[in-house]
Amino acid sequence: MITWSVYILHFNTKYKHAGHYLGIAINPLERFKQHCIGQGARLTQIVSNNKIGMQQYVISKHKGFSRTHKEEKRLKRVAHPERICPECKMIKSYLKIWRVYYENNRNESIF
Ligand SMILES: [Zn+2]
Repeated sequence: MITWSVYILHFNTKYKHAGHYLGIAINPLERFKQHCIGQGARLTQIVSNNKIGMQQYVISKHKGFSRTHKEEKRLKRVAHPERICPECKMIKSYLKIWRVYYENNRNESIF
């Protein structure tokens, strides 16, 4: 079964009230690139058009689409983005998992 990731995008500057985007992907980095060049969700298109940088964190991985989608829906329902966003919480252990920083149309670091 394919492994999917739940990821959160933290916007370096809020767009109106929106500071985060929660999504799922098989290849989060590829999906992140799409978000950054305005080919992702409507919200991230606007964020990208406004030259707002984003950071991506993979927050969990699951086997199969349906489990992953269920977890995404659960998080959207129960959690304030700030409470699950590693960038907002500054949890260092999360930083080691996967942190991608993006601003001004280039990747600053990927590890
Ligand atoms: Zn955040």
